[in-house]
Amino acid sequence: MRWQPAELLAAHVETPSARTLTLRIPGWPGHLPGQHLDVRLTAPDGYRAERSYSLSAPAAGDTVEITIQRVPDGEVSGYLVDHFPVGALIEVRGPIGGWFVWNPAADGPVTLVAGGSGIVPLAAMLRARRKSANPSRFRLIYSLRDPDDLYFREELLGTDTPDLDLFLAYTRSTPPGFTRPAGRLTAEEIAAYALPPAPDVTCFVCGPTPFVEFAAAALVSAGHDPAMIKTERFGPTGK
Ligand SMILES: Cc1cc2nc3c(=O)[nH]c(=O)nc-3n(C[C@H](O)[C@H](O)[C@H](O)COP(=O)(O)OP(=O)(O)OC[C@H]3O[C@@H](n4cnc5c(N)ncnc54)[C@H](O)[C@@H]3O)c2cc1C
Repeated sequence: MRWQPAELLAAHVETPSARTLTLRIPGWPGHLPGQHLDVRLTAPDGYRAERSYSLSAPAAGDTVEITIQRVPDGEVSGYLVDHFPVGALIEVRGPIGGWFVWNPAADGPVTLVAGGSGIVPLAAMLRARRKSANPSRFRLIYSLRDPDDLYFREELLGTDTPDLDLFLAYTRSTPPGFTRPAGRLTAEEIAAYALPPAPDVTCFVCGPTPFVEFAAAALVSAGHDPAMIKTERFGPTGK
């Protein structure tokens, strides 16, 4: 897979610590929700850094979106969130990934479990489902720190998404009137809010490594077939 230039067409603030980038990648072949691309930055002295970023929406021709969280002291995320200017170029390659993907032609219920920025590829699945009018039942369990950290707010909380079946777990503070107290998502909540185990239920879990391991174990304990639990780990630290 070759590296190629991508131009930053537009960008918007997603949360105080995250930014969504719209990139034009000439000749982009399209992708499945859950796939990612690699980004490569090259410093004037030739030093290079590569990182992976999930595609957060279906492609529109040769235009794709990624959403990046600023990691404290992060080499690449800090640049992409705070400094990468509209009109500039970076190198990318992709699409990458064949396991952690949802096929819009598939049927069968789906449970999505997101920790923090792990919502990104799962949002791509929700968006692809809507775009394809796939009638499969989807349920999203989304763990995040604070109300400010909610990605894709309009789509997840807006009134035009009545089909979205969502359980939110704020770990540090909640919005006014929210009945669940702030606290870590528990195994009992995952068991209760995931769609009931059945041979055709697929689970997608994404987030920081400890979150993914915890949530996947909770799904297995709740009776889900490990072969039907697909995971993607974003980073080494916990939420
Ligand atoms: C398949 C895949 C898809 C990904 N998709 C996304 C995405 O859609 N959005 C997104 O924001 N990130 C995503 N990531 C994570 C991303 O690739 C980088 O790891 C992240 O941006 C940090 O890179 P950095 O150069 O800023 O930090 P680094 O300079 O590599 O690390 C700085 C410090 O932060 C710690 N750290 C590194 N990564 C993380 C992390 N993810 N969380 C917390 N601490 C971390 C390191 O241990 C180190 O202490 C994905 C990772 C993979 C493997």
